[in-house]
Amino acid sequence: MKDVVITGAGSGIGQHIACALAGQGWRVFAMDRSEDSLNATWSLLAGEASDRFRLLRCDVANSADVKRAFEEVRSQTEGLDALICSAGILRPGFLSDMSEDDFDALFDVNTKGTWLCARAAVPLLAKRAGGGAPTRMVLVGSMAALRPKVKGGAYAASKIAVSYLGRVLAVELGPRNILVNIIAPSTVDTPMTQALQSLPGYKLSGPSPLGRVATPEDVTGVVEFLLSPAANYVSGAVVPIDGAMSAAFVP
Ligand code: NAD
Repeated sequence: MKDVVITGAGSGIGQHIACALAGQGWRVFAMDRSEDSLNATWSLLAGEASDRFRLLRCDVANSADVKRAFEEVRSQTEGLDALICSAGILRPGFLSDMSEDDFDALFDVNTKGTWLCARAAVPLLAKRAGGGAPTRMVLVGSMAALRPKVKGGAYAASKIAVSYLGRVLAVELGPRNILVNIIAPSTVDTPMTQALQSLPGYKLSGPSPLGRVATPEDVTGVVEFLLSPAANYVSGAVVPIDGAMSAAFVP
């Protein structure tokens, strides 16, 4: 059985990936700061998929929480095949007047939280990778990191940091047979963006040249590719999932 830790598994992209992988026979260690959300994800599963699902409440920005959650994982498995870091927040605001609390929260969760989980997962990923197939990390970055947006400056900065963490991790961990990639979605239809739609004065990037925004399925498909043997020589890549949104400027 393959083992994966997924952060942010209680909603949106992380939830969709968790359900897909659990349905394909993976044992999913689902982490989220919200226990109710984890229960909601678990309730979407049936039969053996729900038996293979482990719920771990964890605030990824809190190093003691991350340590405790990964100790719990280690008590149940000697190694990991994959880590997916999807936990994240978006606090919109002009850089010229956003609050220090919002700025800190973005970097604590999106950047430091990703690094804390990656660091905690390395020994488990290295153990499973020893001498066999590579193990993998997929970090959820953002198209905002490649093309930042007004009122999203701090979010974009926290996500370009995720891209750079992932790229350097890929080089550091290559010799240990661990592949690390970053995905960069544009707008995905999830509770995060649904909440922003009703925020006065904030505009989402909206539909791509394909005429629609991305769905969680669009993102999960790319993650499944990055977890598959078809991607055995892909590491250190920032993979856009944006329906050509960033390919050319539309005047
Ligand atoms: P979402 O709000 O639906 O889900 C995020 C999940 O992360 C929630 O369950 C939340 O409880 C959890 N979370 C937040 N802070 C946490 C913390 N400190 N510790 C543990 N869990 C925490 O959002 P989503 O749209 O699924 O976003 C998932 C990831 O994708 C985020 O990193 C986000 O920045 C990124 N992203 C989203 C979009 C989009 O348009 N939805 C686009 C690009 C990138």
